[in-house]
Amino acid sequence: CGIVGVLGNHEAAPLLVEALKRLEYRGYDSAGIATVNGGRLDRRRAVGKLVNLSDLLVHEPLAGKAGIGHTRWATHGAATVTNAHPHRAGPVAVVHNGIIENFRELREELAAAGHVQESQTDTETIALLAQMHMLRGMTPVEAARATLKRLHGAFALCFLFDGEDDLMIAARKGSPLAIGHGKGEMFVGSDAIALAPMTDRITYLEEGDWAVITRAGAEIFDAEDRRANRAETRIQIDS
Ligand code: GLU
Repeated sequence: CGIVGVLGNHEAAPLLVEALKRLEYRGYDSAGIATVNGGRLDRRRAVGKLVNLSDLLVHEPLAGKAGIGHTRWATHGAATVTNAHPHRAGPVAVVHNGIIENFRELREELAAAGHVQESQTDTETIALLAQMHMLRGMTPVEAARATLKRLHGAFALCFLFDGEDDLMIAARKGSPLAIGHGKGEMFVGSDAIALAPMTDRITYLEEGDWAVITRAGAEIFDAEDRRANRAETRIQIDS
């Protein structure tokens, strides 16, 4: 029920967990993070309280300065590690809040093309679709754009890619999502409260927007893929 993303200059894992703690008020049943370290995508997931994820990270640390994180409130599939986010398919990791209404149809289409999912979630379908597009030669940005076009429902999501230390793609349709601006760092969060320890400079995505984010900034596109200018605001929150 919460999303965070970091393209930072420090280790991402502690920042992601801290931001997820600030989203705990929304409720959740499991949590997870993924990072890219030296180009390599990896993830850790745990059922239950965030402390279970923190404990796991003590025993199996996750290095890297780029990462995404998630607290899950299950809608499709039980609260298990396999169903916890981030979901991964090959080079693609994704965190997602909300529901993909046409996931059954997409799942069948993917299965027919040989891409079988291992979880019971609607979310894994997103990762598999993006992976399929990349296998067919698309870049991460092209694959994300093509994937977003296929998704029906209400969602906020954020992609991270293997081999890409400086790229996140975020999208909003029916679920709020904020982009945070740092100094040579960029962030994504379900709300500004999550990002308050990192930055008070926030741009809210509008309905249907998606954003290509690097440490240099965010390029925001509207639902018709036109470049969109969205105002940056300063948010006052006691951190
Ligand atoms: N529908 C997704 C799932 O059940 C996301 C749930 C959420 O918003 O946390 O995994």
